[in-house]
Amino acid sequence: MNVLSIDIGGTKFQVSMVTENGEILKTSKCLTPKSIDAEVLYGSLESLIIPYLEHYTFEVVGVGCGGPMAREGELVSPLNIAGWRDFPLKSRLKELVGREVFIDNDAKAITLAELYFGAGRGRSDFVGMVVSTGVGAGIVADGHLIDGRSWNAGHIGHVQVVPEGHLCACGARGCLEAEISGLSTQKILGVSADQAPVDWMRHSGDLLARAVASSAALLDFDSVFVGGSVALGYGSPFFESANLALQKYARLDFLEKLEIFPTSLGADFASLSGAAVALYRL
Ligand SMILES: [Zn+2]
Repeated sequence: MNVLSIDIGGTKFQVSMVTENGEILKTSKCLTPKSIDAEVLYGSLESLIIPYLEHYTFEVVGVGCGGPMAREGELVSPLNIAGWRDFPLKSRLKELVGREVFIDNDAKAITLAELYFGAGRGRSDFVGMVVSTGVGAGIVADGHLIDGRSWNAGHIGHVQVVPEGHLCACGARGCLEAEISGLSTQKILGVSADQAPVDWMRHSGDLLARAVASSAALLDFDSVFVGGSVALGYGSPFFESANLALQKYARLDFLEKLEIFPTSLGADFASLSGAAVALYRL
């Protein structure tokens, strides 16, 4: 079975044809138009999709999209795509391709990609995370992705890690996202994350471990897989510091094996995420 996999981000739109085993047959992408016209945005996505309708056989469509969104992705309002506010992405895609369409937020989609195609295979309890412009996560508990009441479970970026810390876009202070995201790092240091000093990378890893330890105490998972340009750009100083800090913050016996890893999905994560959403919901 083939899946048409779509990744909607503030930087780029990406469309791929993916088999149910995670083999990527073709990928195309374009820069996300800067336009605030919803139809200009949709038009450029449509022109990426049309060649696939002509050249491939597929059964279903899966989409990973920046949040927030209404339940099941009926209406999407990605924070970093100003032209889409309550945009009916699901019904528009259904109309275009004539097949079932499943949509989820990008962090949950990456978590499902770990579950189907990555290090999450065979695991019942883990978290997938993205540390890039923002900070997000998806939670797999007892083998199931947690959706939550409003489809928003997994917002680990808004777990407080510094009492009275930096002001977060959500309005609270000291959220993980307000302390370590790419955007926050730029604000706090005055340089972008890819120029951050090693001390800062270690500091960020330590704060990540606080949020992970608190979440793991609640949910009893043992592994966290972290992707995103900031986390992967920092590399070993970040991951070493995070795992060292877990020894301080995660002291309960059942958390002894808790560990934070870089994502296992590599550069293919954007192509695999949408496919995993479709396979999970189908
Ligand atoms: Zn917040």
